[in-house]
Amino acid sequence: GGSASASSIKQVKLERESELRIEVGNESPLKLRLLNGSAEIFGSELAPETWLTFPPRVKFAVFTWYGATIEMDGATETDYTADETPMVSYVNVHAVLEGRRNRAKASSPNDSEASQGPRVIVVGPTDSGKSTLSRMLLSWAAKQGWKPTFVDLDIGQGSITVPGCIAATPIELPIDPVEGIPLEMPLVYFYGHTTPSNNVDLYKTLVNELAQMLETQFSRNAESRAAGMVINTMGWIEGTGYELLLQAIDTFKANVVLVLGQEKLFSMLKAVAKSKPNVDVVKLQKSGGVVSRNAKFRQKARGYRIREYFYGLTNDLSPHSNIANFSDLLVYRIGGGPQAPRSALPIGADPVANPLRVTPVNIDRDLLHMVLSVSYAKEPDQILTSNVAGFIYITDIDIQRKKITYLAPSAGELPSKYLIMGTLTWLET
Ligand code: ATP
Repeated sequence: GGSASASSIKQVKLERESELRIEVGNESPLKLRLLNGSAEIFGSELAPETWLTFPPRVKFAVFTWYGATIEMDGATETDYTADETPMVSYVNVHAVLEGRRNRAKASSPNDSEASQGPRVIVVGPTDSGKSTLSRMLLSWAAKQGWKPTFVDLDIGQGSITVPGCIAATPIELPIDPVEGIPLEMPLVYFYGHTTPSNNVDLYKTLVNELAQMLETQFSRNAESRAAGMVINTMGWIEGTGYELLLQAIDTFKANVVLVLGQEKLFSMLKAVAKSKPNVDVVKLQKSGGVVSRNAKFRQKARGYRIREYFYGLTNDLSPHSNIANFSDLLVYRIGGGPQAPRSALPIGADPVANPLRVTPVNIDRDLLHMVLSVSYAKEPDQILTSNVAGFIYITDIDIQRKKITYLAPSAGELPSKYLIMGTLTWLET
């Protein structure tokens, strides 16, 4: 059963096909190692006897297929053993995907259909374990030598970069249980908000851009095409959220839809797939270990994520504080902004703001504490459709001297002077 704050060294013996579920305490990290047997954390195998240090608040499970003994050192919020898990059904999905990858690899690269590996999309309500299942499928594939592409469409709690983005990255090794997805050169598009309802048209546009970019990369790379992709989605599955799911399935040409923990969504998608003979819709059980996170927790997690971008998970990065003149930086926003008065418009035109209009932003105190993205655009008219190089954080605005102070991952000039502003803010603590 559950236990509160045990802070000494503790050993746990796990029977086959069971898992140890852990929530690290709020204050201090937890050390953990595999003493004997074999075990994995979300698809990534533990090396024997090697201590891993998990930062506060992390929630995870150590699963064993054949039995293991685990040793823990530090305080946990909860830790308990569960022998009922959906892991067998998850690994069965992996086996089917493996078969499809092998078939794709064996076919002629000139046959663009047959040489395409599985494109898996994971859908379900919030806290159904979508990110976790995506991670397992990717790690199991990487362990077998594939380099699948991870696509993260979740702007609320993304696992590739800061919140407010959609992104993709190849996964070449099983995902590190502590560090997560490596941040080497992901393909990132900045949406700038943490809910899609802020600008649905922009979200759809960026999903399209990302999909097209990946399509181009796949067309040149038979290996990554055969490995396929795993697409993680948002937990917004009603109304417009559902429409966005359908858009994602079509845009990425997903051919395996994994539905976690919701009968209704499953039957709706199943009905839609009737007209798409090559799309398989599969229902999967949600794990009892998935931890629900409320709005406040999510908000906090977003802050930690931004902090991690600049400072690293363990303060191992040293970001640089830079000062620039207002005139050095060109800040833009997408959508919103002042509308033209009706009198200035042609007769019959609607004064609704164009959600995809890119407008320059005057630098003022409103920019304070904003997280801006640095666009790869070379011209303002490329901003909407360009991916981004990274992010800066505005720490001071001096109106009198027209100076702006910002935190960037490194010193020196930014890769571009075009910055995009959304509503993403952070209060450094
Ligand atoms: P979102 O609503 O953000 O889309 P999600 O459906 O992607 O959430 P996850 O992020 O996969 O859900 O899981 C929620 C939390 O539960 C995470 O912190 C994850 O590490 C944890 N978790 C998932 N599975 C388990 C498990 N078997 N044991 C313990 N913790 C788990």
